[in-house]
Parts: sequence; C-alpha cells; structure tokens
Amino acid sequence: MSNVRVAVRVRPMNQREKEKHSVCVISMSQNKTILQSKAVSPGEVQKAPKEFTFDHCFWSADDSDPDTYAGQEEVFKTLEEGTIENIYQGYNVCIFAYGQTGSGKTYSMMGTDDEPGLIPRFCRALLNRKSEGTVRVELSYMEIYNEKVRDLLDLKKSKKELSVREHNILGPYVEGLSQHAVSTWEDIKLLLLAGNKCRTTAATKMNEESSRSHAIFTLTITQMFPNHESGTSKELHSKFNLVDLAGSEKASKTGAQGKQLVESGNINKSLTSLGRIISSLTECKGSYVSYRESVLTWLLKNSLGGNSKTVMLATISPAEDNYGETHSTLVYAERTRQIVNQAKVNEDTKC
Ligand code: ADP
Repeated sequence: MSNVRVAVRVRPMNQREKEKHSVCVISMSQNKTILQSKAVSPGEVQKAPKEFTFDHCFWSADDSDPDTYAGQEEVFKTLEEGTIENIYQGYNVCIFAYGQTGSGKTYSMMGTDDEPGLIPRFCRALLNRKSEGTVRVELSYMEIYNEKVRDLLDLKKSKKELSVREHNILGPYVEGLSQHAVSTWEDIKLLLLAGNKCRTTAATKMNEESSRSHAIFTLTITQMFPNHESGTSKELHSKFNLVDLAGSEKASKTGAQGKQLVESGNINKSLTSLGRIISSLTECKGSYVSYRESVLTWLLKNSLGGNSKTVMLATISPAEDNYGETHSTLVYAERTRQIVNQAKVNEDTKC
C-alpha cells in the first residue's frame, strides 16, 4: 500500500503577469509550499500565510540561484526515482499533471525541443533500461474532449468516437484504441509529434495555446521470461499512464463563451468527478466510489485508489493575480496525497 505521491511546481511569471507587476505569492522551503497574499485593500485584514506539505516542491519560478532552481532534468530525476524500476517489476504507474490553464502542465509533461519534459525523458529512460526477459513496448495516445474519447494516433483518420469498456481482470480500457509497437526513441518521437498535432485546441483568453482536453499517453510494457526447463514462461505486464489534464479553472475566468462554455462544462464534469472521487477516497473511507460518472475517472480508476503507483504533479502560477486558483490547486493536491493505492505486480504464467 502506498499513498499517491504529490509534487508541486511553480513556473516563472509570464509576460502578462510581469506587465501587470503582479507580485509573487509563493515561497517554498523543503517540502513545504507557502502561499501568502501581499495585497491588502483598505479596510481588509492581511490574509494569514497558508502552508501546504507535499512530497516534493519544485521551485521553477526563477533560475537566478541554481541551488534552488528546479529545471526539467531535476523534476524528472526526482519523479523518476524508483519509477522505471517499478515498471520493470510489473507495477502500473501513473503520473498526472493538474493545474489551471497556463500553469505549466504541458511544459512539464511534454516540454519543448530544447527543454524536453517528463514524457520524452521517461520514454528514453524506459527504453534504455535492460531487462533479462524479452520486452515489448506498445504505445497509445488519446484525448478526452467533451466527454468523448478520441484516438490521437488513428492513422486512418476515422475521427471515430471510442467507448470505454470494463474488462473483469484488466479493468477499464478504450475499445478500438490503436496500439503502436515501439522499440526506439525515434519511433516514439514520430508518434508523439503526430499525436500532439491532433490534439484539439481552442484559444481562451488566458492562454492562446491552451488545450481544453485531457490527454492520456500510455506505454504498455510486457516482459516475457521463458523457463526452458519447465517449458513455461512468466509474463510481467505494466501500464504507464502519463496524463496532461485540461485546465482546472472556472469557465467564467477564462472568458469562455458559447460552445466553449459547453466544452468547459464537460471538462469540468471530468474534473469535478475527479474531485469528488478524491474526496470520497480520502474522507469517507469505504463509501461507494462512482468512477464511471465521467470518462476520465473511469479510465483512471486504477490510478486512484487502485492498482497503481501514482504521482500527481500540481502546477501553479507564482502571481498574486492567480491567488484563488493557486489556493484551490494546493488544497486539491494536498488532499490527493491522502489517497492510498494498492499496487501489485501484474504477473502471469503461461504453459
Ligand atoms: P498549461 O499546459 O498548464 O496550460 P503550459 O505548459 O502551456 O501551461 O505553460 C504556459 C506557458 O508557460 C508556456 O509558454 C510555457 O512554456 C511556460 N512555462 C510553464 N512552466 C514553465 C517552467 N517551469 N519554466 C519555464 N516556462 C514555463
């Protein structure tokens, strides 16, 4: 049994925050993140600093001091610790990024050409790891948009809507999702590029580039260990999910209107369900948890209170301007840390 490991990362001020001369309200000290409002309106009492405890706090707000600054490599190294090993031991692993639009989810998960994020770094490390068995790695990449599942690597471009089904042993899966066998980083890179191009984006006032969809990138690793004496073979299976969630902010703040508002309503349906599930897993133990109420939570069933070693990366803005959203992200993240998962090795023997 292990708790969900939770990390928080604060990004640098963006252009808009700098232009508004927004002040920094975040400080970090070891595994604590402190949120302190600086502005006091006339007649208002200064808010007391709020302190949150996490497994890791990554200070990426400014790189003036290399000792405190956490760049992409440092974030990867910290979150990787033991992860590749766990995957090769046959455990399921899930890493998901949560935070408001523009807080650094995609930067942390995908990164840029010069500063690759967790997905490319994990893929390389995973392929470089030697195994005594024969290894097969398959990749899938999907997005949930408006409660609909779409294959981002559908080479036939059928734009078909896929359905989630439940297998009695393997759990939830997406029927008809394409699986791509990969053996080199180049194979993965081509698929990643194709999938990212396919992601649905709709500009919002907060961030032109922001994606309104949840993206789930999955590597399925199968290792086969033949026993020549007995003629049987042992197989280890693991699923490694890397999830980039849609922005967690309220629709009103992003200026979304019309069709977009409907979309954010649905995005929030998945995120609201995620919140509800986190609450029921942490507050009223033993109560019924309705994973199926949204596509996202159904697919992440194993990762939340189930058979998986799970890491949440909560991303936040340093600016006073985003105080409210940052506060809710930190509360949400601290609560998620109480979820207890029961990861087990996925092993079977074949004759
Ligand atoms: P999100 O996916 O949460 O909407 P992005 O990852 O797109 O946010 O980040 C918004 C902007 O901030 C991007 O231009 C990105 O390059 C920049 N950014 C985010 N996090 C960092 C970071 N840790 N260091 C440098 N730039 C960052």
